Amino acid sequence: MNFRQLPAAFLLFGVQLFAADFKAGVARIDITPQTAIWMSGYADRSHPSTGVVHPLWAKALAIEDNKAGRVVIVTTDLIGLPRTITDLVAARVLKEYGLDRSRLLFNSSHTHTGPVVPPTLPTMFALTADDRQIAEDYSRKLTEDLFTAIGAALGRLAPAQISYGLGKAHFAINRREPTPQGMRIGVNPAGPVDPDVPVIRVTSTDGTLLAVLFGYACHDTTLTGQFYELSGDYAGFAQIDIERSHPGAVAMFLMLCGGDQNPNPRSKLELAQQHGRTLADEVDRVLQSALMPLKAPIRAGFQNIDLVFAFHTRAAFEAELNDKNPARVRRAQAMLKAYDDRHPVRQTLYPIQAMRFGNMLTILALGGEVVVDYSLRAKREYPGNLIVAGYSNDVMSYIPSQRVLSEGGYEAVDSMAYYGLPGPYASDVEDRIFDGIHGVMRAVGLKQVSLVP
Ligand SMILES: [Zn+2]
Repeated sequence: MNFRQLPAAFLLFGVQLFAADFKAGVARIDITPQTAIWMSGYADRSHPSTGVVHPLWAKALAIEDNKAGRVVIVTTDLIGLPRTITDLVAARVLKEYGLDRSRLLFNSSHTHTGPVVPPTLPTMFALTADDRQIAEDYSRKLTEDLFTAIGAALGRLAPAQISYGLGKAHFAINRREPTPQGMRIGVNPAGPVDPDVPVIRVTSTDGTLLAVLFGYACHDTTLTGQFYELSGDYAGFAQIDIERSHPGAVAMFLMLCGGDQNPNPRSKLELAQQHGRTLADEVDRVLQSALMPLKAPIRAGFQNIDLVFAFHTRAAFEAELNDKNPARVRRAQAMLKAYDDRHPVRQTLYPIQAMRFGNMLTILALGGEVVVDYSLRAKREYPGNLIVAGYSNDVMSYIPSQRVLSEGGYEAVDSMAYYGLPGPYASDVEDRIFDGIHGVMRAVGLKQVSLVP
């Protein structure tokens, strides 16, 4: 007997029999600022936004396994969600839905044509009181919106199949260009990149596409500081393109370890659209291929570790008060105030998270603007299906590897002034983070392979 001869009731029963291990629910909320607002990411901006290219979104994907273990993944078209916001939302989600912190992942696309999200990049601009109020009101509303989207996704949980596939894209280029004067932001075709485009497909039991979660390791910076209209840059265009070709589905962009990667070429709106199309086409190609169904249970681990800054003295910041760069002056003022308060800034908290679906796929989510070395090393240490996201749960600074730290340049040193932090990290930054990674990976049942040096 073949399926065609089975009565309809059997077919329905058959579908139920083979239904996957999961339920899923997806929701999205428009987080486009409703007024002109300062845009984050480029210190040379001189005025607030003048328009909107397309809406910005927060999107939430809730997944529940057959043991009632739940996770929620939240993606946002934003420069970076700060810990102050993610902690508040996570505490409310724990209280309201009983979801442990380890089971809630926040990611930001790092669009540089999105609004400022205080207190991310606190020393980048000196805003007027009115502009600061607009930004703080935006952050407050955003906190509510994230909670609303998470609740809506959890409220829509319904039987679903979840599968995984992997594509590649090649418009990211390493941007750390060596020059006789040191590293500068340019293009470095010889530098490391990570072309992976992981794709998680979520379908209802009748095969309807509900959501696509896809990632790429590349700064969301096709558009430069001369653009004053809000958009999600290439990541925004990619999501729009995917949703257009799959009406009713929600496309979610996960920013991976693109801290030292730029889109290439860049600086024109058409190029942001072109890179978005490239990514959307690759996601579509993967969606149409044979994907690997994921299995329950979902395990999760989360840890905050301390990252330590290189030793600094008060004298260094007193000297910096005379710097030509106003962001450095503001950073110096903040550091001197901390010295005055007898709490010089010596370390910062750093979130590390893992989510594992059966034995098939793990998402490792790291805070900050993680350079690509972390992704490449994590994939060597944990062979198998691994997605390494950066810009997750907090964006407190760039996260240089030991190599990048020793080479110096923007991601290692100069960027710290815009983040209001004292200076480079101590030389053990990569070791500390990998100790933390090994900890959360053990929590989801994974052990790193020993690498021959
Ligand atoms: Zn950045």
